Amino acid sequence: MSLRDSVQRDSDVLIIGAGHNGLVSACYLAQAGMSVTVVEASGSVGGMISTNPIFPEAPDHQINEGGIQASLFRSSGIEKDLGLAKYGFRQIIADPFHVHLDPEGPSLAFWHDPAKTVDELRYFSPRDARKYEEFVRQLDAAMDVAIPWMNGHPTRPGVKTMREVLPAALKRRKDLMPLSAFFTTSHREFIEERFDTPLLRAALASMPPFCWMTQDGTAWALIYIAMCHRTNSARFAGGTGALTNALAQHLLEHGGTIRVNSRVEELTTHGGTVTGVLLENGEELRAKTVLASCSPKATLARLLPDGILPEHLQRRAHAIPTNVLETTTLKIDVAVSGKLSLPRHTKWRKDGLDLCEPIVSWQTYEDHLDAWNSAVQRKYPENECFIGIVPSRLDPSQAPAGQDTFWLWSGIFPRNPDVAWETMRDAIGDKVLRECAQYYEGLDTMEINRRVMSAPELEERFNVPDGNVYHVEPVGMRFGPLRPAQGFGSYETPVPGLWITGAGTHPTGGISGLPGKNAAQAMIARARGGAIRRTRERLRG
Ligand SMILES: Cc1cc2nc3c(=O)[nH]c(=O)nc-3n(C[C@H](O)[C@H](O)[C@H](O)COP(=O)(O)OP(=O)(O)OC[C@H]3O[C@@H](n4cnc5c(N)ncnc54)[C@H](O)[C@@H]3O)c2cc1C
Repeated sequence: MSLRDSVQRDSDVLIIGAGHNGLVSACYLAQAGMSVTVVEASGSVGGMISTNPIFPEAPDHQINEGGIQASLFRSSGIEKDLGLAKYGFRQIIADPFHVHLDPEGPSLAFWHDPAKTVDELRYFSPRDARKYEEFVRQLDAAMDVAIPWMNGHPTRPGVKTMREVLPAALKRRKDLMPLSAFFTTSHREFIEERFDTPLLRAALASMPPFCWMTQDGTAWALIYIAMCHRTNSARFAGGTGALTNALAQHLLEHGGTIRVNSRVEELTTHGGTVTGVLLENGEELRAKTVLASCSPKATLARLLPDGILPEHLQRRAHAIPTNVLETTTLKIDVAVSGKLSLPRHTKWRKDGLDLCEPIVSWQTYEDHLDAWNSAVQRKYPENECFIGIVPSRLDPSQAPAGQDTFWLWSGIFPRNPDVAWETMRDAIGDKVLRECAQYYEGLDTMEINRRVMSAPELEERFNVPDGNVYHVEPVGMRFGPLRPAQGFGSYETPVPGLWITGAGTHPTGGISGLPGKNAAQAMIARARGGAIRRTRERLRG
């Protein structure tokens, strides 16, 4: 991909950050005829969905540096709207989307079709199978409301969204009623009240590990499961970064410009209006509008000079939560010189499913409770809880023939551990990968190289405060119009000339592109509204 260097010029829109949300916005805006420049601090596009060869000893192993599996993206319509197939973009369905393993050999697979999951569950407990069926039916009703809402504007949902949401809510009200428990009870209470099977309990604790699961109001995290049952899950051929590569090509073809190695140091202002950005190298770029897709806290509390926001809003910007949960991410990538396998568990299933394809987890339900309790007390869990994937198995193009890549993620890890992370990184990497080798045969003998990251490394690699992979903590009061903070929840900020998007805005973090699409659509609507107004005034005058 060739990234054009631009000469300094005025753009209609200057976008900070070439992660997928920034690029999605850029593509919609350029397609609507606006001139767009994207500036990115890193040396390549992609942000948290970058795919790159990161190990010199393994130059042909493509490593998914951040996110890997997408579900909400599949509801977004972005692939079609932007014609991404033309740029080689292709989704590979990941079905089952998750498999939880019992250390002794049994496993429970979660398929796109809930009936297949219910069938598997019946083997362990007919009662839980019935309960799961009911749970999924209720969650599916929530999807009728949640998907149009997430695809719309957070403060001005619009007639189209209301036309979809209201009849669906009315029609499925009986299923929706019990879901109030989602927003009131804890993830733990929700699971324990409904299900007994240890394997199911453990799986439901492992799939969406966003918030301390014993706290009230955290059960909403289970909506992830409903999303996967509704939209299916996917990876992207060539690695997650294939999406941002395709978006970059679309943008260049529509006249946009992307500048990498261009860190924004400050937003420039004139009379209280944002007029452009000042880059690290001292260069100033001007634009009619700046749309920041990096962390909203960085944008509003650091890049925007003090004194532009009214004092109360400035305080709210500084209070945007990026490190209040005491938990953070652990990420490990490994290049492997041969093929991994899970022989014990493959033998038990007898259905020929290659367990290297789906997301896999195996820690017990009690391990999850302990891990959360340890992490929030700043201790390393005795049994780390994580999910593992062999990305090169669903898509062999990501490793040389006969070899694999291994991807591991945990969201239940201490942010401020009592023993400094820097002194523990290697030992924890060893411990976790030793455990993985008890499941993934060959991981211990065929490792070429590994990278172990937690908050400090994520902060540096992805230019995000506190290494927060959602930009803003995924807590109940930071959704909808309250994301990232009251008064900043509609993409257009109170500062003229400044808009925000990205994982820290509605609807949420993760691989979806919806913050980028929604923000661009709001900006296009605003521009069209302005043009109509100006024409009317001209005609009147
Ligand atoms: C290890 C890991 C695993 C994950 N797993 C999953 C998963 O499996 N599924 C899922 O749905 N989500 C996952 N996520 C979360 C998901 O990847 C992110 O929430 C999402 O990609 C964020 O996209 P974005 O475009 O909003 O922001 P980003 O990708 O963070 O993009 C913002 C861009 O702005 C740039 N930038 C920042 N500051 C500046 C500046 N001052 N000047 C210029 N540029 C700047 C950054 O370099 C970055 O490229 C994961 C994330 C990580 C890190």
